[in-house]
Amino acid sequence: MPVESDFLVLGSGIAGLICALRCARAGRVVLVTKDRLPESSSRYAQGGIASVWSPEDSFESHIADTLAAGDGLCHRDTVEVVVREGPERVRDLIALGTNFDLLAEVFRDGNLVGSGELDGVPGVGPGFNNAKERVIALALASPGTDPICSGDRYNRNFIDYGPDNIERFLRVKDDGKPAVIFAAHLANWELPAVIAASDGLDSVVLYRRPNLGAIADAVIALRRGIMGDLVASSMGAPVTLARALEQGRHVAMLVDQHYGRGVEVTFFGRKCMANPLIAMLAREIECPIHGTRVIRLPGNRFAGEISPEVAPVRDAEGRIDVAGTMQAITAVVESWVREHPEQWLWLHRRWR
Ligand SMILES: Cc1cc2nc3c(=O)[nH]c(=O)nc-3n(C[C@H](O)[C@H](O)[C@H](O)COP(=O)(O)OP(=O)(O)OC[C@H]3O[C@@H](n4cnc5c(N)ncnc54)[C@H](O)[C@@H]3O)c2cc1C
Repeated sequence: MPVESDFLVLGSGIAGLICALRCARAGRVVLVTKDRLPESSSRYAQGGIASVWSPEDSFESHIADTLAAGDGLCHRDTVEVVVREGPERVRDLIALGTNFDLLAEVFRDGNLVGSGELDGVPGVGPGFNNAKERVIALALASPGTDPICSGDRYNRNFIDYGPDNIERFLRVKDDGKPAVIFAAHLANWELPAVIAASDGLDSVVLYRRPNLGAIADAVIALRRGIMGDLVASSMGAPVTLARALEQGRHVAMLVDQHYGRGVEVTFFGRKCMANPLIAMLAREIECPIHGTRVIRLPGNRFAGEISPEVAPVRDAEGRIDVAGTMQAITAVVESWVREHPEQWLWLHRRWR
């Protein structure tokens, strides 16, 4: 059957599709490809597009790199055009709605670039006003390419655990015992879980599933594999967590939320309700309790901490007292907030 059109475009890669979009402004387009429409190198190219964005970068260096990589096969005049027009073409793609991941701009040669350098990065939306937040969000999104998850705890560029914390971490990891680990909404409460997983601590992390299903699925997909096993809070979660502890694993959770059916604790001199789950697990399994946090430092850096064992409060029979132990844990959280009040980011009605 004959097909009529004004334009015939061959290939459904990025070049063909851009061409088809442009031609469609002027007439009818038929796009012919040798396979299914998505089948193209463009679909598999996920490493980003190298282009000159920073004032510290230069067309000359990109041209030199490309010629060197081409090892004599490149025509210099073609390389010049491709490199010099690169930023404009990337802007075209952004204008068309291409959703670039920003990681390549955030880390250069494996190092974190300064926040100033992020300013000119295209596609950095208003939702990411704080360069540090952007850096960490992106770092978490791509564990293979950032220094957080390098696996070398002594050479992380921007998280320093210090010898005491490393020693404690290794003890918790290697002592063959389970442990419960609490955190609070301070600075960045996801990094400790990422570090722990990257350094081989066998952990199970309790999380609250976001209300929007699609977002929840995306968040979980993003974090799976970089944060230990994630267990959504549910009626069955306590049993799952207890089983994990029985197997000698480590269970981590945030403890500074209001929990209406919880136990009463004093936090900053006022009564509030705390979720007793972590103390109940410690009581059930008789395992050590540690806290963990990171502290934001100037220059996009963090100090990481795993606390010494928090001594649980015990009842007359010597068993862990849940309410008393939750108070002991809450006191640690309060001391963290007092130390860096500006880093407590849990904006909800804690006292009600
Ligand atoms: C695994 C991989 C990773 C890559 N990573 C990166 C990266 O990180 N950054 C980067 O800048 N570049 C990367 N590249 C290179 C990049 O993919 C290409 O430079 C770019 O996609 C080329 O776009 P294109 O539209 O010219 O070709 P393609 O995307 O390859 O599209 C060619 C199209 O032509 C069709 N076609 C071919 N022959 C015929 C025919 N005879 N008849 C009809 N149709 C035909 C194909 O089916 C396809 O639809 C990568 C390439 C691969 C394969």
